[in-house]
Amino acid sequence: MEIIATGIFARVDPQKQSPTEPWIPSEEQYLFLFLKDRDVFCPLCNYNLRNLTVPRCPECGRDVRLAIGLTEPFMRWWIALCCAVVASAGIGALFWMLLARGGWPREGFALFQVAFVYLLASPLLAAPVLIYRRTLLKWPRSAQRLLAIIAIVVSVAAVIIFFAMIR
Ligand SMILES: [Zn+2]
Repeated sequence: MEIIATGIFARVDPQKQSPTEPWIPSEEQYLFLFLKDRDVFCPLCNYNLRNLTVPRCPECGRDVRLAIGLTEPFMRWWIALCCAVVASAGIGALFWMLLARGGWPREGFALFQVAFVYLLASPLLAAPVLIYRRTLLKWPRSAQRLLAIIAIVVSVAAVIIFFAMIR
């Protein structure tokens, strides 16, 4: 049986295809096959790529490819963790500036000192959360949730303790 490439597959040279081997489409041909008679929009400019014949968006000129995506990218607990550490990192950065101007706070309560140190250290905690995002996202969801909850509770507690005792 001879396979004759037509239309969008015309660039396939029939001489190079062995008649006994099944025809395996290339990545590009899968893309064209997928977009044949299907409304799919360019992720950048939203142009309808239906019946595309080159691996490029005709409107914005960017190369396009067919890719596998997760049906539900699970980011919820990582985002929650991020919010907690980034928020306390912001407060921590502010404290570093206050520390440079006013020195170490005089309040002697141990809990207050712990909260203050935590907030000062939190810019250092935010970095690994951002750097090791992929690793953290591979953790079991229960572990991601636990870490996020701990970060939220500790951050909120540190802020409450700090502002409750500063008066
Ligand atoms: Zn486009």
